[in-house]
Amino acid sequence: MRLVVVGGVAAGLSAASRARRLDPSLEIVVLEKGARISYGACGLPYLIEGQVRSIDELTVYTPAFFEKDRDIRIRTGCEVTAVQHGRREVLLRSGERVRYDRLVWAAGARPVLPFTGANVFCLHTDWDAQRLLDFLRDRQPRTAAVVGGGYIGLEMATALRARGLAVSVHHDATTLLNREDDWLTKRVAGRLARCRIELHLNTRVASADSLGADLVLVAAGLKANAELLADAGADLGRTGALRVDERLETTLGGVFAAGDCAEALHIVTGRPAWIPLGTTANKMGRIAGANAAGARERFEGIAGTSIVRIGGLAVAATGLSSQQARREGFSPVEVVVEARERPKYFHGCKVAIQLVADRSSRRLLGAAILGDEGVAGRINVVATALAARMRADSLASLDLSYAPPYGPATDPLLTAAQQLARVLD
Ligand SMILES: Cc1cc2nc3c(=O)[nH]c(=O)nc-3n(C[C@H](O)[C@H](O)[C@H](O)COP(=O)(O)OP(=O)(O)OC[C@H]3O[C@@H](n4cnc5c(N)ncnc54)[C@H](O)[C@@H]3O)c2cc1C
Repeated sequence: MRLVVVGGVAAGLSAASRARRLDPSLEIVVLEKGARISYGACGLPYLIEGQVRSIDELTVYTPAFFEKDRDIRIRTGCEVTAVQHGRREVLLRSGERVRYDRLVWAAGARPVLPFTGANVFCLHTDWDAQRLLDFLRDRQPRTAAVVGGGYIGLEMATALRARGLAVSVHHDATTLLNREDDWLTKRVAGRLARCRIELHLNTRVASADSLGADLVLVAAGLKANAELLADAGADLGRTGALRVDERLETTLGGVFAAGDCAEALHIVTGRPAWIPLGTTANKMGRIAGANAAGARERFEGIAGTSIVRIGGLAVAATGLSSQQARREGFSPVEVVVEARERPKYFHGCKVAIQLVADRSSRRLLGAAILGDEGVAGRINVVATALAARMRADSLASLDLSYAPPYGPATDPLLTAAQQLARVLD
């Protein structure tokens, strides 16, 4: 029995590793078109900023490790150009055919580039990062324009600013970070202004030249690498990513999909969503790999929990904003509370918490939390509450920890939930 995995990063290698653990007899081959496997793209902005010294520091495992320790064959430089499911074969660019019994498609996504040019960059792979680093070293640009106000665009804006460039951000919507939330956008815009990064909202950029910058970084969205499997007969969902069932099997029997190329069930809306994130890719990969090895495991779904650092400000979100909730048919109620994440005498700084709940059911729908410290743990509590389908009242009575070096006697999250419960009454 041979399992072929296409894609050698987060989802693909999680799938291969889990399949190996469950079935030592399986032949497992990973096909990766790039030269490098198992690296954290999430660290690339910090490589550009200079906090990470080399791309090698972002590499977790080498092909040799997988071959020796896990008996998984890794073939880099192998691009799949077609899938012939009837024959259970994938075709490589070299013309070689590779037979499979089970297939895990973990080919990720690719950046959407509205224009190209010698000074135009994106940041998606190790290769993109190297090209950008070379340009920064050789050309010494003084100005940068970032196209896209999602988390990669804003991380890169602050990274380039930290390197001393004059930076502007151009975003084609009125709200940042795909959250459709004016409150969050205002806060983030305030921090960008403090970093002396110019922000242009509601601005569609037609060409790099119109920006007049030495360097243009495009982070204007992604597209799922789903076409090859769609050509083989797999269904795409409404989002354009691969449709999968709760076991992450595509509509082609024996073919599973995981990570940025696939949809996942949103635990708040109960509908398929496409929110490509590394943490999701790893979890989906594990389930797809297990099921490809014969298990029957269910992927529980996602809340789209994210966190990003923008000029020292942690911006975290999970579930839905009010605007998104309304579009999904809920009747949202929201509160915003600001409180210290530790007592003043312990140098606590303020965190701002926005909680959203449904008016009739009182169920929590989402949250956004912003602050210089004390953000990650709290958003994870809300993500857990969403998974447990908690109501605002239950969140308000959680037994959270307290000691002055770590937090106040009444956690800001509890204060926000109490206020939300009062508004719902
Ligand atoms: C700059 C940056 C910062 C990020 N920061 C965060 C973060 O802070 N938190 C977070 O959760 N997520 C973050 N992400 C997202 C995260 O990196 C991705 O969600 C994750 O890598 C997806 O994993 P994947 O395995 O699905 O796809 P990928 O990592 O994209 O891997 C897919 C692999 O498939 C290969 N491939 C594609 N097509 C073929 C083919 N036809 N044949 C053979 N091989 C193929 C590709 O070469 C690629 O190596 C960040 C991403 C970037 C780019």
